[in-house]
Amino acid sequence: MYNNAMEVLKKINSNGYESYVVGGFVRDRLLGIKSTDIDICTNATPQQLSNIFKGAIAPSETYGAVTLIYKNIRYEITTYRKEIKYDDHRRPSKIEYIDNLLEDLKRRDFTINTFCMDSNGKTIDLLDAKDDLDNKIIKTVGNPKYRLKEDVLRILRAIRFATSLNFDINPDVKKAIKKNSKLLKNLSYTRKKDELTKIFTSANASYGISLLIELKLGKPLELSNLTKLKVVDDILGIWAQLDVLKIYPFTKVEREAIEKIEEILKMQTIDDHVLYQYGLYITSVAASIMGMDKGSINKKYNKLPIKGRSEIAFDIKKICKKLNLSEGKWIKDVYLLLEKNIIDGTLKNNEESIEKFITTYLSEKSK
Ligand code: ATP
Ligand code: MG
Repeated sequence: MYNNAMEVLKKINSNGYESYVVGGFVRDRLLGIKSTDIDICTNATPQQLSNIFKGAIAPSETYGAVTLIYKNIRYEITTYRKEIKYDDHRRPSKIEYIDNLLEDLKRRDFTINTFCMDSNGKTIDLLDAKDDLDNKIIKTVGNPKYRLKEDVLRILRAIRFATSLNFDINPDVKKAIKKNSKLLKNLSYTRKKDELTKIFTSANASYGISLLIELKLGKPLELSNLTKLKVVDDILGIWAQLDVLKIYPFTKVEREAIEKIEEILKMQTIDDHVLYQYGLYITSVAASIMGMDKGSINKKYNKLPIKGRSEIAFDIKKICKKLNLSEGKWIKDVYLLLEKNIIDGTLKNNEESIEKFITTYLSEKSK
C-alpha cells in the first residue's frame, strides 16, 4: 500500500505538480496503526489529474475531489482548496482551488489530521501537529468556536477520533462542542449514524459513550438511555437499546433484527420458547445486553428438541390421508401447538406421538 502510494505521488510530481499523502494514513502511520484508506492532496486540478491517470479517475462524493483506482488501490485525491462559505453548518457551498499546501491544511478539521508525507516517505508537519499527537489530544486547526460551527460533522468526528485513538479532547474543543451541539440537527441522520456506528463499534466504545454523555449529546442526537447503555459487540444490540428505530435510517434486515431484540428486552426473560422463536443470533444479542452468559445460551439452544418447523415429524399429506382429513386452517393452529408442546418437552417429536396428539386435539375441538 505504502509503495503504491509513493508511486502515485511520484507520477503526479513528474507531471509538474505537488502531491502529498495527507490525513489519516500519515497520522496512523506515526501511531503505528494500520490504515485502510489513503487521502492525497495536490495542486493539480481534477481535470489535470484525469489527464495524468487516464480513465482511472472518477468524481468523488466530496466536492471537488476525485477517486483514483491505481493498481487496485483506491485513493481520494483533493486539490488544495479554500472553503469559502458554509451552508447549514455543513458542507462549504463554495470552494476555490489554491496553490498553497499550508492554506489547504488550515481548512482541515484537527491538527492530527494535517500531517503530510512526500514521495520519499518524509513526514511534513506544517502546523506543529506532532505535539498534539504525542500528547494524545484532539485539537481543532484554529479556533474551535468557529471551526465546529461551520461544519457540525466535526463534533462527531472529534469524538470518533478520540474514541478510536484513545485521545483526550482539548477543553476548548469540549466547550465548543457543548455550545454548538444543538446544530447537530442540521446533520443528516445517515452521517450521524455512520459516525456513531464507528464510535459504537470501536474496541474503545465505552470511552466514546462516556464522551457523548459528558458532552450532553444524547438529546441533540436523539439517543435515549445513553447512560444505561450496555456495550455489546453487536451494533444492532447497541441500536436496540437507544430507541432510534423511528429516527435513524436502517435497512429492512437491520430494522427487523432491532425490533426482535427490543421485544426480548421488554420481556426480560429468555426461555426455550424465546430461543426457538427468535433463533440463536437475536437471542444471543439480547442475552448479552441482559448480562447473560453467551455460552450457556448456546448450550440451551443446542439442546432444543427442534430448531424450526421443518424439523417437526409432521407430514401433513400423510396425516391427512391417514386420518381422512382435508388440509385447512386447523393446520396453522396445530403447528403452533406442536411447537409449544415439543419445546415444553410434553410432546415427543415422533410421528406416532404427533399423530396421537392431533387425533386428540381434533376430537376435543369437534366436541
Ligand atoms: P479515517 O480515514 O481514518 O477515518 P481521516 O483523517 O483520513 O480518517 P477522512 O474522512 O478520510 O479522515 O478525511 C481525510 C482528511 O480530510 C482528514 O484527515 C482531514 O484532514 C480532512 N477532513 C475530512 N473531513 C473533514 C471535515 N469535515 N472538515 C475538515 N477537514 C476534513
Ligand atoms: Mg482517510
